[in-house]
Amino acid sequence: MPANPTSSARRGDPRRHRTLEVNVTDRTTCYICGLHPFPADDVYCGNCGFPQRGTPDERYKFVLKRRQLRSQLREAESDIGSARRILMFIAIAYLVGSIFVFGSDSEISQLSRLLTGGALLGLWFYSKTKPVEALLSALLLYIVMMAISFLGDPFSILVGLLMKIIPLAALIFGYQSARKAIKIKAQFDPATANSLLNDRHK
Ligand SMILES: [Zn+2]
Repeated sequence: MPANPTSSARRGDPRRHRTLEVNVTDRTTCYICGLHPFPADDVYCGNCGFPQRGTPDERYKFVLKRRQLRSQLREAESDIGSARRILMFIAIAYLVGSIFVFGSDSEISQLSRLLTGGALLGLWFYSKTKPVEALLSALLLYIVMMAISFLGDPFSILVGLLMKIIPLAALIFGYQSARKAIKIKAQFDPATANSLLNDRHK
């Protein structure tokens, strides 16, 4: 089993970071991705790039960078989660709204709310696997629906203004976070990107 970095570094004290040692006890297996057998002449892992036979400083920097990226990725994933919850909320609001008749509403208005709600719900499902594409589509659809209601009745934009701005901001923020998450994942090798959020010590 590969050894974990020393606990002093794990506590996050910057003055003690230099004492972090990545002790590779099993040289035949990559400390990071588990590549086995690790070629005897290689310094860097051909799979994940870890400097298994590099200097202690190189190993330390690699592990530290990985931790920083992992924490950024966790943050981005959490923001995507918030955006998805709000997307679900907007979809439900449209679907529920399609049941009621507001003022001089026509059946077409009701039908358009039903279709929009259905489309947003579909995008919510899609956002689980493709958050960038789904959140961008939801954002555009939401803006189009706002624009249509504004053109129909310019004063309608003022009704529940805050309740319109919050979803808009959440979708924009979620879309940006989803793009950020992809960029962070791209800095990892494909072999270890998927397990990034699961292993805590590397
Ligand atoms: Zn590796």
